[in-house]
Amino acid sequence: MKINFIDLKRQYVKYKAEIDLGIAEVLDSTQFIMGAKVDELERVLCNYVGVRYGIGVSSGTDAILLALMAYGIKGGDEVILPPFTFIATAEVISLLGARPVFVDIDEKTYNINPSMIEEKITNHTKGIIPVSLYGQVADMDTINSIAEKHGLFVIEDACQSFGAMYKGKKSCGLPDIGVTSFFPSKPLGCYGDGGMVFTDDEDIAKRIKSLRVHGQEKRYQHKYIGINGRLDTIQAAVLLAKFHYLGEEIKLRETKGTYFTERLKDVVTTPFIEKHNTTVYAQYSIRTGKRDALSKYLNDNGVPTAIHYPVPLHQQEAFSYLGYKEGDFPVSEIVSKEILSLPMSPFILQDEQDYVIEKVRGFFAKG
Ligand SMILES: *Cc1c(COP(=O)(O)O)cnc(C)c1O
Repeated sequence: MKINFIDLKRQYVKYKAEIDLGIAEVLDSTQFIMGAKVDELERVLCNYVGVRYGIGVSSGTDAILLALMAYGIKGGDEVILPPFTFIATAEVISLLGARPVFVDIDEKTYNINPSMIEEKITNHTKGIIPVSLYGQVADMDTINSIAEKHGLFVIEDACQSFGAMYKGKKSCGLPDIGVTSFFPSKPLGCYGDGGMVFTDDEDIAKRIKSLRVHGQEKRYQHKYIGINGRLDTIQAAVLLAKFHYLGEEIKLRETKGTYFTERLKDVVTTPFIEKHNTTVYAQYSIRTGKRDALSKYLNDNGVPTAIHYPVPLHQQEAFSYLGYKEGDFPVSEIVSKEILSLPMSPFILQDEQDYVIEKVRGFFAKG
């Protein structure tokens, strides 16, 4: 059996008629940049999330960058985030000359541990970026109340959690700003790069709309130093077509995730989902002390796997200038050695899941 890690082809085949029609409309209109479909997508998605503003941007990375720019982040500032995430979350802080300040993760959810945040707050701290990893929202109520107490902003990095619920509210709609990515393999993916910034704050929304077009207020009148951070109209068309199926896909992800958990929980550590959360399983990640041997065994048997993420950010060469050392974030370090993502998509078939389960169980049975 040949299994895909994420099956984007089955998804395209299923929605082909609508996606192709949407793209054809854009080609026909020749409105390739910031066309009507970008406006429509922003309207549709901010309604879905339950906030007033959605601003389509060029990627999840640029969404975080623009959010930080809107808060005026600059050299000398500090921003708190977990070291167990994709590099983009920290990279944009450094790009603005500010300092990423890491706080270790919770052993069960793999999201930032809120009880360790306050000890890292200094006079230079401006904000917190919790990451809602693998599709489960971080502990936003606790994080928001710490931020409020210290006058900090909160940007939820929801690049993996679009569509997930936290205490009855949607990811991205947990103030002050939520950002997501439409990278093809994310829970709502386009066919290239894309992202969105969500907020209820009118001032911030205005600033981000201007920053994404070179800080422009009116044509060729520039109020800020901005970037070219726009979302392509073709990508908006793909997203509008795929959005109709998002609810259905999230249900399928939950069903498939639960199916794995029920059949693997006695041999590996399966995802722990807080009672107040729903997850969208951007990744289905298990944990075992025999990670490397299991991963090799699975790959030898036609089961592709991935590691999200093998090196925590404080141990990346790019961040060596921050002066962190091994042992500074023990939970992130151990999880990065033990975590393994299995094939997961709304379109994985039951016999494919059964094959993955059989191979994982087979590995532990042979000892
Ligand atoms: C994917 C991802 C990003 C970056 O999104 P891009 O659209 O690829 O720029 C940032 N943070 C996290 C947690 C991600 O998973």
